Amino acid sequence: MQGGPSDPPEFDHPTEKCGVVGASLADRDAALPTYYALYALQHRGQESAGIVSHDGFQQHQHVGMGLVGDAFDEDDIDALHGPAAIGHVRYPTAGSVDESCAQPFSVSFKGGALGLSHNGNLVNADELRDELAGSGHAFTSDGDTEVIAHDLARNLLDADIVDAVEATMGRIHGSYSLTIMHDDTVLGVRDPRGNRPLVIGKLDDGYIIASESAAIDTVGGEVVRDVRPGELVVLHEDGGGFDSHQLVDVDNTAHCFFEYVYFARPDSVIDEELVYEVRRELGRQLWQEAGVDSDVVMPVPDSGRAFASGYAEQAQQEGESVDFAEGLMKNRYVGRTFIMPTQEARERAVRLKLNPIKSTVEGKSVTIIDDSIVRGTTSSQLVDLVREAGAEEVHVRIGAPPIQAPCYFGIDMATRDELIAADRTADDIAAEVGADSLSYLSLDAVTAAIGKSRADLCAGCVTGEYPYEVDGEATDRPVQRPDVDSVADD
Ligand code: SF4
Repeated sequence: MQGGPSDPPEFDHPTEKCGVVGASLADRDAALPTYYALYALQHRGQESAGIVSHDGFQQHQHVGMGLVGDAFDEDDIDALHGPAAIGHVRYPTAGSVDESCAQPFSVSFKGGALGLSHNGNLVNADELRDELAGSGHAFTSDGDTEVIAHDLARNLLDADIVDAVEATMGRIHGSYSLTIMHDDTVLGVRDPRGNRPLVIGKLDDGYIIASESAAIDTVGGEVVRDVRPGELVVLHEDGGGFDSHQLVDVDNTAHCFFEYVYFARPDSVIDEELVYEVRRELGRQLWQEAGVDSDVVMPVPDSGRAFASGYAEQAQQEGESVDFAEGLMKNRYVGRTFIMPTQEARERAVRLKLNPIKSTVEGKSVTIIDDSIVRGTTSSQLVDLVREAGAEEVHVRIGAPPIQAPCYFGIDMATRDELIAADRTADDIAAEVGADSLSYLSLDAVTAAIGKSRADLCAGCVTGEYPYEVDGEATDRPVQRPDVDSVADD
């Protein structure tokens, strides 16, 4: 486990970097529902939070570091006037933990005021930044969101918002779910492969767009549908509806399978699948593919819970005598800001965070279920904890395939060198973490549980073949890459 002040709330898991919101209401300020929606998306980013609103005349902005509840107080929300707003929660890349990188990104220019919230990662941001800088655009951050904003601002000088977004979509390459505010018009865009989620919801007096349906539930809205891959949705300024523009079509999508496995809230529905049910199904399949006789099945809290219940249910249905138990208790008050400068302190942190219930494991054979292993050090500490509490056998089952390659699309995974599965078999990993056995779920089973075709999912971190063209990496499908130079000559 790599520890440090930026440790994610669940140790040794990939980390989602952002959540986005946009709202357009009839005749009340949109900041408060946006704030509550950001609360619901807190799991997608804990480093900073921000809202930009528009009152029909001017933009108002507040961004702050930390959790949503810390980044805003009541006065901050009251000062965000206007029935249009976009919001963002962020987990930044290493080294950029300050307010200059917090989103939404906002800029005023000849064509009006623009605000942008981005979830995802562009793979051609450097090229575009160089080209835009060469034509006079001044950048204040090294992030790809500012690249999108500048490109859009440039296009808006001589096109309407729909044509401007279409032109920008033709130039940016990679993963993006965006909420955009141009003056008081709120828009939502999903990249042509639909890598990150984006959902439209209806409120009594308007519409809202958010990364996950749980945010729409939280503000009392009703989910209308997902934003389609390649679609631009423009919310009406009077809160009365939205227009849809299908700007780019591709043969296959590339939905991130890890949204279902780990990132999204279990109560969210993504691309028409309830995440909790997908996770339970992954657990059932895990039993069928890699079930092992044991006395007790228990989840790593909270990430392994739905998997473990599906696994135990399937085992019991097949006549296995196995108990499902919460054998590891989590201390909810150990936050991610806990600083762990040394390996010893990091190991102590796992013990501060999780404690086994002795009576559940003593003298038993135990199967621990989780959704993923990234670096593997937490797994060995968990196995040690359970053995020290008296377990006779400890098996580990993982409800996803081994992570063998990095993610380039907005997920903080790890480098290849750090990934325990990059060059080891499951048996090697079992030996390394001290488990009696360890198995993963196959990619075929994951695909079946999600209910989509393999060709419509991204599994780059498992296969090392990516759905977008990434320098130095293989791709698993034909990619039409935008030709930046020819567009620059327009
Ligand atoms: S590489 Fe992995 S984590 Fe990244 S988008 Fe693809 S499936 Fe998701």
